[in-house]
Amino acid sequence: MFSREYIKAVKVNEIFDTGIKKPNYRKLRGYAFDPSLSLQLDTSAINTTTFKIKWEDLSGKPGNQNFVNNQNQEPNNQDKGIKGEYVEIIDFDPASGLFYEGADLNDPYILAQDGLEPSESNPQFHQQMTYAVTMRTIENFEKALGRKALWSARYDEHLPNGQREIFVQHLRVYPHALREANAFYSPLKKALLFGYFPAPTKDLSQHLPGGMVFTCLSQDIISHETTHALLDGMHRRYIEDTHPDSLAFHEAFADIVALFQHFSMPEVLVHQIAKTKGDLTSQSLLGELAQEFGKAIGNYGALRSAIGKENPETKKWELSTPNPNDYNEVIEPHARGAILVSAVFDAFISIYNLRVKDLFRIASGGSGILPEGELHPTLVKLLAAEASKSANHVLTMCIRALDYCPPVDINFGDYLRAIITADADLVPDDDKNYRIAFIDAFRRRGILPKYIKTLSVESLVYPLVRVGDIETKLSYISTFLRDFQNDVAYASNRSLIHDINIDYKRKLHGLLEGKFENSIEFSDLTGLLFSDEDIRRFSLGADSYGLPKFEVHSLRQARRVGPNGDALNQVIISITQKREVPKEEWSKFIEGNDSMLKNINPADNAEETITFRGGSTMIIDLDTHKLKFCINKLMVDPERLKEQVIYQKGTQDDSLHATYFSKILTKDNPEPLSMLHRM
Ligand SMILES: [Zn+2]
Repeated sequence: MFSREYIKAVKVNEIFDTGIKKPNYRKLRGYAFDPSLSLQLDTSAINTTTFKIKWEDLSGKPGNQNFVNNQNQEPNNQDKGIKGEYVEIIDFDPASGLFYEGADLNDPYILAQDGLEPSESNPQFHQQMTYAVTMRTIENFEKALGRKALWSARYDEHLPNGQREIFVQHLRVYPHALREANAFYSPLKKALLFGYFPAPTKDLSQHLPGGMVFTCLSQDIISHETTHALLDGMHRRYIEDTHPDSLAFHEAFADIVALFQHFSMPEVLVHQIAKTKGDLTSQSLLGELAQEFGKAIGNYGALRSAIGKENPETKKWELSTPNPNDYNEVIEPHARGAILVSAVFDAFISIYNLRVKDLFRIASGGSGILPEGELHPTLVKLLAAEASKSANHVLTMCIRALDYCPPVDINFGDYLRAIITADADLVPDDDKNYRIAFIDAFRRRGILPKYIKTLSVESLVYPLVRVGDIETKLSYISTFLRDFQNDVAYASNRSLIHDINIDYKRKLHGLLEGKFENSIEFSDLTGLLFSDEDIRRFSLGADSYGLPKFEVHSLRQARRVGPNGDALNQVIISITQKREVPKEEWSKFIEGNDSMLKNINPADNAEETITFRGGSTMIIDLDTHKLKFCINKLMVDPERLKEQVIYQKGTQDDSLHATYFSKILTKDNPEPLSMLHRM
């Protein structure tokens, strides 16, 4: 029996928790769009928003690394600055050779005011803005994927013990890296580099005369660049320009994330829904990206002309009508990316319209035609809630699909199949027809996956694999992967997750080698080359190359819960192979076609080989111990090789390819995204 005093003491402790817990969030003010909208009367009121960022310790000191140019600069001797778990903000300005003083977001005055006040002239606010938006984008990504995000590793062939990958703890963010109209993610430096440049003085409604445009103050540009880095962290081969869709996909995906993040700002959403009377197909801030940069320079993201544009005759903004030839004809990465962005936005509009149908019916007394004048505030609130839910749903579908994409040579058709498969895997019953909305939007733009005859959900979902004789061998793998998942689940930080990944990738490589050496069944399953028999059956000519080595490219765990509480417990592994295709072999795809021959880019080294990659993304269900999907890019695929050769070595449009792509395609160009974003 406890004494009365003891019981009293326990109760007092229950009532009064004397320990002060750390807060869940850090609130930081920032621009909802960019500074230009604060200059316009109708948008200035909604252009300040408050980001709620998960609380983290920011007392670390950002490094003094200066990757912007290679000169030795003064080290960063400030003892303040923003450095968290994922990013560090390094405010070095190479044009002046100076570090700007770092912001101290832990300062009590700053904490008590939800961060620094938005200001174009305060570099510390610029740091806060880049930090807040970067973190928000990372949080959205992690929420959709159900695991922690890792940046793409650094590679070093000379590490001991066959180890090649070095963990990258921080993405380095340079708010004032360039004095030019550019901003980009550098895969080489693992950094976001934001530029600034004098505003064109022509249009005084957009900029103060003589002012500067800071790309680091645009929420869209920051989320776009952060998304490039997140995508590279998951799929590091996607910056290889092997197909007209490769870099276009990077651009489009970055825009999709930036675009749908607009719908998570409640004040903006309510304001714009009221203004458009709930019609998201009419022009609104929600569907535009990087306004200030776009107006200053002309073009930034894929999106600017994607959803709609001003009709030069009527001067009225119009929704663009999709053209089923677009996908076949448009090659330039931004324009091509715009096709994908508009397809996803179109799917979103259909989903939203479906969700608000009843609300409109009630509000219009059944006629569907809303009365003149403003919408009732309650209706606006309800519509905004539906828009936000739909946007969140579409964004989550788009991010999750990344786990169902092949590890190399992605195209838009693959992505559509990934979206549909990922969704069908988690949500068996598509009672709201979300999947149909996606398929329909893609179809209207001519995006058809290869080898698919009809565009139905059934034909687009990757078929469940049949493993046949190697089932027992595969079940060893799934037992092994369960250990991996348990280890990762208890890993307390990202560095440890990276180490566990590396360790299990190495072990998995050994296991696959041991179990499937010379296994033609495994070759068939993955579309890769594992059996000597492959050399014969594909007439590969063993004298020029034997079986290529394989790489365990990635290993990821995924635990997801669907809307009905159905849970998925999976591990995704991807395996890749490559071979260098000699000129004698690839040139036959161009020879005999005069129009292509004359367009061969003279800048290319004639002796160059072409790197051709194959890969398989394998999705293993840990609850059933079954390999569910294999999403393959075949190692022997003459059709795909031909496409790559024609894309890389020939061209339909010599002027564009020679001037634009030759620079991107320079072998091993480490900064493909820099060139794409430069104006
Ligand atoms: Zn981009």
